[in-house]
Amino acid sequence: MDAVDLLVQDIGELLTMAEGEGPLGVRRGTSVAFTGGELVWLGPAEQAPRAREVVDGRGCVGLPGLVDAHTHSLFAGSRAGEFQRRLGGTSYSTILEEGGGILSNVRATRAASDEELAASLSGRLQHFLEQGVTHVEVKTGYALDLEHELRCLRLLTGRRWPTRVSPTFLGAHTVPAEWRPDRRGYVGFLIAEVLPQVAVLAEFVDVYCDRGAFTLEDTRSILEAGLALGLKGRVHAEQVQHTGAAALAAELGCTSADHLERLDEAGVAAMGASETVAVLLPGAMLYLKDPPPPVAALREAGVPLAVATDFNPGSSPVRSLLACATLSCLTMGLSVEEALLGITRVAGRALGRPELGWLGPGSTADLALFRPPPGEPVCHASLVQYLGGHRAEAVVRDGLRVV
Ligand SMILES: [Zn+2]
Repeated sequence: MDAVDLLVQDIGELLTMAEGEGPLGVRRGTSVAFTGGELVWLGPAEQAPRAREVVDGRGCVGLPGLVDAHTHSLFAGSRAGEFQRRLGGTSYSTILEEGGGILSNVRATRAASDEELAASLSGRLQHFLEQGVTHVEVKTGYALDLEHELRCLRLLTGRRWPTRVSPTFLGAHTVPAEWRPDRRGYVGFLIAEVLPQVAVLAEFVDVYCDRGAFTLEDTRSILEAGLALGLKGRVHAEQVQHTGAAALAAELGCTSADHLERLDEAGVAAMGASETVAVLLPGAMLYLKDPPPPVAALREAGVPLAVATDFNPGSSPVRSLLACATLSCLTMGLSVEEALLGITRVAGRALGRPELGWLGPGSTADLALFRPPPGEPVCHASLVQYLGGHRAEAVVRDGLRVV
């Protein structure tokens, strides 16, 4: 083989996450070679090809680039004051009635310039990248009118960001202030006016189906309209109240149903009979003091479990995907293996991207190296055991070293 572009050499412990290589595909003393933006070789360090650039992987745990399958990273406005008020006992509904909460982000996002939105999004995605995350799903949904939802999607899809981005249209996030008296009117407007224009920019259509947001009937209309336009579907389902949205997601062939704290037996069975991935969001569960989703029943039914940050300024201001893996073990009962699969290969599945979240021929050329916490052996378990604080030693995205 000619000299390759980049070789990550002699990785202490590498998890390939490839199918058919055991639960995590654990290998020791392995090297991975990249050329032309592709992973071209993976094997024993002593057989590695020559390379123009070499990254020393000794003493590190190597993972495929991590995948965050659910974030609301594109917004303007701060809710730090609201956080303090809620700690002091003010309810979210009171804050919302005063025009705060998500509605304050809507005002700020509409008022922000493209450059202001781009700077904050870029900073957030750079932070994810430095923690080994190379692919992030980003939802709109803080603009909620045609002009600014389109502007947000054009911004998302029109630039190169620190991580790759899967763009999701979440016009059905909440009913904007100007449509509050007429929710069904807003749903009709989304379907007739907005979806046809955003469908050429977004990859997914998402609906927040819950108390105070959109009904099951609204959700079906919006998802069916989006699917007919060629978008893939996903749903915020069963978070605050049981609605039947997860079963609807399964019925319509959505790639994921997310949250699921109030999922019932029928919903579990429907998901088990479908390809729909359960995306678990322990950050929101923690901040909102929700009960855990029925993980044992989902596991029993064979539903794939992904874990994501749900990064947003209100219910989950959580910027660490590995910390969410830890929280999914502590608060939801996932194993270390399930949590790591949930932020890699299964997260890729939740985004309808089977090339994400594993390492081997045909995978994305993304790899993250982590040095274990001081005094710990080179073993993936400590990455999940320690809560947060894992800055990647090196990150490869699309075959190039970017951290
Ligand atoms: Zn969300």
